[in-house]
Amino acid sequence: MLENDGSLPVPQRKRIALVAHDNRKLDLLEWAQYNRGLLIKHELCATGTTGALLEKSLGTEILKLQSGPLGGDQQIGARIAEGLIDLVIFFWDPLEPQPHDPDVKALLRIAVVWNIPVACNRASADFMISSPLMSSAYERQMPDFELYRSRMDPVLEETAP
Ligand code: PGA
Repeated sequence: MLENDGSLPVPQRKRIALVAHDNRKLDLLEWAQYNRGLLIKHELCATGTTGALLEKSLGTEILKLQSGPLGGDQQIGARIAEGLIDLVIFFWDPLEPQPHDPDVKALLRIAVVWNIPVACNRASADFMISSPLMSSAYERQMPDFELYRSRMDPVLEETAP
């Protein structure tokens, strides 16, 4: 629910989405294992294969969406638009084309649209997970989309019966 100042409350227990392309999965698994104590305090979801690997390695329940190339990235994007994700850890592979490159771009784009923090490599993920904001509530400032939403109002008024 949007506050009057245009911010959205992010709870202490964050809803974190995790995704890793195949060449980056080991990196993510190592990172997640190292940060297990912090990570398991939050609500985790992931694309299918990443989620299955993380669930096994961390021994905690993870909501597993479709595998990335089968729509998992798009599901995460949809959850962002619905206000159901607070953070994204997305270790994408900069050296290999992916069959679902458009979905990857779409996920990164929608995360920026909704002002969602995204870590795309281990150093960013380290900074993110060690932030004091991870253990407190946070007011995420929301962009003001009203101008965009109302852009066709004059046309609608003109064409009103
Ligand atoms: P996966 O998907 O976790 O199912 O491998 C990740 C991706 O490639 O987006």
